[in-house]
Amino acid sequence: MEIEKLARQNIQELQQYSSARNEFSAKGYILLDANENNFLQDYNRYPEPDPLPLRQELAKLKAIKPENILLGNGSGELIDMVFRCFCEPQKDEALTIYPTFGMYEVCAKTQNVKLNKVSLDNEFKLNLNNFCKAINPQTKLIILCSPNNPTGNAFAKEDLLQIASSFNGIVLVDEAYIDFCVEKSVLKEIGSFPNLIVLQTFSKAWGMAGLRLGAAYANSEIISLLRKIKMPYNVNSLTQQLALKEIINPAGTQNITKYINKEKQKLLTSLQRLSFIIKVFPSDANFLLIEIADAEKLYEYLKAQKIIVRKLKLADKPNRFLRISIGNVDENKQLINALKSYSYE
Ligand SMILES: *Cc1c(COP(=O)(O)O)cnc(C)c1O
Repeated sequence: MEIEKLARQNIQELQQYSSARNEFSAKGYILLDANENNFLQDYNRYPEPDPLPLRQELAKLKAIKPENILLGNGSGELIDMVFRCFCEPQKDEALTIYPTFGMYEVCAKTQNVKLNKVSLDNEFKLNLNNFCKAINPQTKLIILCSPNNPTGNAFAKEDLLQIASSFNGIVLVDEAYIDFCVEKSVLKEIGSFPNLIVLQTFSKAWGMAGLRLGAAYANSEIISLLRKIKMPYNVNSLTQQLALKEIINPAGTQNITKYINKEKQKLLTSLQRLSFIIKVFPSDANFLLIEIADAEKLYEYLKAQKIIVRKLKLADKPNRFLRISIGNVDENKQLINALKSYSYE
């Protein structure tokens, strides 16, 4: 498969913008090349365009190479870039599952690309045959969110790789929640599958949603193509600095992640004891999906108790699902107490 040829023609021909900090970034020089304010300090300089120290540390942590990493202003930015890089508006199509993360639809519509969807089964599992049957000659991009938001389940690695190996286009696996189930990651496979892009984020397990940092992992050909359309200074200096500190010393985050998983199990058990909850779906992420007879009513009740959860309006069952993030110990207790006092008649 020629990866370069999968990119839109205009992107193949595009020359990357060469910023001042791209061309020169060494210390110990008088810098008069970027129209910065040389009277001030700290944040007067443009950030590194493709921050190597951050990529090096991240590469160490993930056991890959820095050239296999592109950083984004959140992984949301990277999803948008993948559409713009590979999908020709009004011609190419993309394929995903239903239900899944709503941003794929927004990015597809923005780029004027048709996004086809294959429904998951009743237990929100992926039927590999059904999914592959939905691939058509226009399909350029497949997006699979694993663990899936809002259902919480990760898909079998073999299924994801089967799709990647049989498809002549780009396969984007969004692993926003993978830190909660690292063993289900397909990141290690980017060397074997040239069309595979794995997306991860610092917004969930890493607790840096406000800093905006996401990472795309892929072979260097894909990374080079994406780099061409990247805004030069998409990851700001403060984010680079703070994220580097965390990545160099990830033990704190890793411990909290384990703790969140334990809280999730506790919460799951408590929720299953409540008779008005029809089903609590198993979760590989930091949230639980529950099915109840009247989601709107429970949502309003919890809101009155000062607890906000997420309503999910699924096409065939618009009033039956709520998604609940795992809170801290005290918040989870309050949630369970509130639910125990819920009168659902
Ligand atoms: C939260 C989330 C993201 C992360 O978005 P950021 O822009 O990195 O904050 C990406 N994909 C999915 C499925 C998510 O749920």
